[in-house]
Amino acid sequence: MSGLFDVTIIGAGVIGSAIARKLSSYDLKIALVEKECDVSFGVSKANSGIIHGGFHHDSTTLKSRLEVKGNLMFDQLKEELHFPFHRCGILVAAFNNDEMRTVEKLYQNGVNNKAIGIELCNHERILNLEPKLNRDVVGGLYAPGGGIIEPYRFVFSLVESAKKNGVELLTDFKVTGRVETDDRYRLESADGRSIESKWVVNAAGLYSDEISRIFEAEDFTITPRKGEEFLLDRNASAFTSKVIFPAPSHVSKGMLVIPTAEGTTMVGPTAQMVDDKQDASTSKANFQAIFSSARRLVPAVSERDIITSFTGLRPTIEGDDFYIEASSIKPRFVQVAGIQSPGLTAAPAIADHVKDILKVEGLSLSEKPGYDPYIEDVPRFRNSSKEELDALIAENPAYGEVICRCENISEAEIVAAVRQGHDTLDGVKFYTRAMMGRCQGGFCTHKIMKIISRETGMSMDELTKRGGGSWLVNKKVGDFALRDRA
Ligand SMILES: Cc1cc2nc3c(=O)[nH]c(=O)nc-3n(C[C@H](O)[C@H](O)[C@H](O)COP(=O)(O)OP(=O)(O)OC[C@H]3O[C@@H](n4cnc5c(N)ncnc54)[C@H](O)[C@@H]3O)c2cc1C
Repeated sequence: MSGLFDVTIIGAGVIGSAIARKLSSYDLKIALVEKECDVSFGVSKANSGIIHGGFHHDSTTLKSRLEVKGNLMFDQLKEELHFPFHRCGILVAAFNNDEMRTVEKLYQNGVNNKAIGIELCNHERILNLEPKLNRDVVGGLYAPGGGIIEPYRFVFSLVESAKKNGVELLTDFKVTGRVETDDRYRLESADGRSIESKWVVNAAGLYSDEISRIFEAEDFTITPRKGEEFLLDRNASAFTSKVIFPAPSHVSKGMLVIPTAEGTTMVGPTAQMVDDKQDASTSKANFQAIFSSARRLVPAVSERDIITSFTGLRPTIEGDDFYIEASSIKPRFVQVAGIQSPGLTAAPAIADHVKDILKVEGLSLSEKPGYDPYIEDVPRFRNSSKEELDALIAENPAYGEVICRCENISEAEIVAAVRQGHDTLDGVKFYTRAMMGRCQGGFCTHKIMKIISRETGMSMDELTKRGGGSWLVNKKVGDFALRDRA
């Protein structure tokens, strides 16, 4: 960390990371600051992972324009950044004439938004596209351009690429204050560090209202809208070939059946306004609502397949559209707030849009000679053929050591995660998928802790689940023995 930055982006979720990567293609000194110990630990880790098909919002909204544009950017991004992404297609299922009328409006949105290949389906066509659908389906919508992605892995890749092209990532940097002089801001962190920057982009997700207040810029409120989801085993018979939506309500896209990019099935999410920006609880009532709604779409959905559940909070703002504008109060300060769904889909288009705003506001952008959009692809044990594995093991025997048996993750992949800077249990989990399978880390957690300790030199009692005080070990067996004898 040194000197004066041209641009500092606050928040390393998918939005801040996409902006950092975009700006790294220009001759600029850029900082990406994040309050957590790793990137993508906010809203961007707990979502449905859908690359939306461009039909839920009408073409007058900024969010629909950026959704459609963002969707189209993912094939190229996958080439460059190697994250799990499949353009599997999306279906919206209607079970009566009222729902079919809602679906027809979505179809019209899709046509107006120029969503590629969008199609209205009758009963036969939709069942043909997805035979696991409830046979009571009347018809629906097919959006072949929709897809699924591993969201945290996407963020990790964006940040790896940004860093490769010169962006400085500062984690554990919680912006709590700012001092403003003529042509720059000093950003102060809770731990006493500070940096200076000419321009600041506020991409702080749920906390973008607080950042705006710290900068004495626009006054707005971010209200969390909670979404609970359940993850089903990779062998669940509910796994569909396409993402299945119900006809939506006016507040939510509804509770879905989602085949995840890595082969498990997800059901949910709920949509409930809450006050607490840290409320990650799940409830029995919502569990029942999710499963009955999902089973209405796909009868094979079963509680017996549950692996785990989680909650994400959408950062909603009054007016319900994205709020992406240069501040009209503070110079060289850009607001990127209210980025709820489809923020993941729109992220690369938002990054482009923010770059354009910065340019109009006077930031000088000249392309960086030597910018390299590609990062290295880490081979995966479970995606490799026997011949590929033999070659990998011959070069690096750690590929022959399977650490996570449920997800088939080798020691080499865990070492790669740690060497990329993901040195907490959650960091390794989201980078590799280790501990995400049926046993949820029951078998491999201690093996992973040993690898992190060996690679970083940290002792076992220094290791954390996700930074801060989330230590994994706070007593040694000997401590208990001594206390018990006393
Ligand atoms: C349940 C659910 C399902 C969703 N499903 C989809 C979907 O299928 N498809 C889709 O397109 N979108 C979906 N979304 C929306 C999508 O997840 C969000 O739009 C997106 O992740 C928002 O990213 P972000 O970078 O703005 O926020 P975040 O990921 O929260 O990033 C903001 C970052 O700022 C950091 N920060 C905050 N305050 C400070 C500070 N003071 N100093 C430094 N750093 C700070 C935070 O720690 C955080 O990492 C879903 C959302 C939810 C909740």
